[in-house]
Amino acid sequence: MPGRLIIASNRTAVPGEPRAGGLAVALSDALEERGGGVWFGWSGETLVRETRGVRIFADNKIDFALADLTEDEYEGYYLGYANRALWPVFHYRIDLAHFSDGDFEAYESVNRRFGRLLTQLTRKDDTVWVHDYHFLLMGQEMRASGWDGPMGFFLHIPFPAPEVFTSLPQHQRLARGLCSFDLVGFQTERDTANFTRYLVETFDAEILDDGRISVFDRIVRPQTFSIGVDPDDLADLSVGDEATSAAKRLGRIIDQRALVIGVDRMDYSKGLPQRMQAFGRMLDENEAFRGHVSFLQIAPPSREGVDAYQNLREQLDQLAGQINADYADLDWMPIRYLARGYSRGTLTGLYRLARVGLVTPLYDGMNLVAKEFVAAQDPEDPGVLILSEFAGAAEQLRDAILVNPHDISAVSDSIRTALTMPLDERRDRWRLLNEKVREKDISWWRNTFLEELEKTRSDY
Ligand code: ADP
Repeated sequence: MPGRLIIASNRTAVPGEPRAGGLAVALSDALEERGGGVWFGWSGETLVRETRGVRIFADNKIDFALADLTEDEYEGYYLGYANRALWPVFHYRIDLAHFSDGDFEAYESVNRRFGRLLTQLTRKDDTVWVHDYHFLLMGQEMRASGWDGPMGFFLHIPFPAPEVFTSLPQHQRLARGLCSFDLVGFQTERDTANFTRYLVETFDAEILDDGRISVFDRIVRPQTFSIGVDPDDLADLSVGDEATSAAKRLGRIIDQRALVIGVDRMDYSKGLPQRMQAFGRMLDENEAFRGHVSFLQIAPPSREGVDAYQNLREQLDQLAGQINADYADLDWMPIRYLARGYSRGTLTGLYRLARVGLVTPLYDGMNLVAKEFVAAQDPEDPGVLILSEFAGAAEQLRDAILVNPHDISAVSDSIRTALTMPLDERRDRWRLLNEKVREKDISWWRNTFLEELEKTRSDY
């Protein structure tokens, strides 16, 4: 492959920061395999007024290029437009969205500044890959600053139905921005279809025979690349020291009781209150399970600068407290709710210990926890995955117990079904789920995206 790979994402995996997630590893691998490249993103620092341009940290073959935000930019671009407008609308929560012209201006101006900075770092034969909803306008800004090589974008969150996307006052501007890329990748066929329909209905775009779209006097290819995990790594971790010791620690407390587990960032898209209610309902209706099942919900707070997140925290504290007060006994606590994060090693041990994985977001781009849960199971005695039909992962993981997360009774019934599922059925379902998780893993995701992006080079 010619040239270097240039990646832009809100945060990078700059060495020294604790973010060894699957995506960070996948993108680092992509840069290394390419023989080198640049990974551009926000430094994580906010300065009162002036920013310092780009600072480069060279690490082996990767140059990490980090730019700061001013406090006003952080407020308007990051907390404001990205997390108070784009995130809720893209997750179908227009009711939580806050539309402010000032926030959009900050978003546009950061995309412009970052786009210029990144263009200065590119060389002629490079390939550019931009990530996620923070940078929807980055492509257009790079084109305006003179970048005319191949450029792809991947959206990690859902792309909503056109009827919802158009609630954003700047939807046309955002769509033009996205169409400056050659390849626009989505998590699911549903997202790709939504984007395509939006372009056709709003701009009279023409769908070409090969799936590319002719719009705004250029050609863009929307395509589905469902992100995955590294199943071998997770399977190894799940029997490693950290995992085993975590499973032992928790095992001592829950004793012989069945474990139901939920692991999520504390976000209103994850359906956490509904999930706790469903577990409470299950106890209301099934006396036999009282004292015999424990629900562990791990949910570290995120984006605490946004009001909707603070309200969620209060709601969860109250619900967990109420269910525990109703049902706890001297030697049993129905819900263990831990508002903190754990290492990947620890999580895989807990997934493996669990009889049920409860993954019930109200809407989710993919949901990697669902795939991690599957990859960490013991093939001889696997747990059961209960999965929201509104998680992107549900397009692939059809052999989970699929539920409507808004339907509290249905989720409650599905917990009972999972807890009583015979071993044969658990094994059969797990085998089929594991095949799907392995078929499109994280390497498949990055390799296919980059191969498709490379094909657009011939158009230059
Ligand atoms: P999102 O990107 O919306 O947070 P995903 O499920 O797609 O949701 O990805 C979340 C990632 O963060 C997964 O790799 C998961 O293991 C990790 N994660 C989620 N919750 C926790 C937690 N409580 N502690 C540690 N890691 C977590």
